[in-house]
Amino acid sequence: MNRVTCEEAFRQLDDYLDRQLRAGELRLIEEHLEICAACLREFTFERSVLDGVRKKLREVTAPPDLMARIGAALREGAG
Ligand SMILES: [Zn+2]
Repeated sequence: MNRVTCEEAFRQLDDYLDRQLRAGELRLIEEHLEICAACLREFTFERSVLDGVRKKLREVTAPPDLMARIGAALREGAG
């Protein structure tokens, strides 16, 4: 049975969260998370941090007033 250690799981944490792992690697990580509460807690925490950052980035890159101005400019251009 091919099992990953906590160290190996942590090394692939970023790739796991970015969904960069191949199917086989992903399966091994998920198997480890099923049996290892410590890693599961860490992975869950990291994912929540990452989701929070991504949500903030979306808010920063696309503020509503900017989108409105772009929409107005496009309408002017089309008129
Ligand atoms: Zn572990």
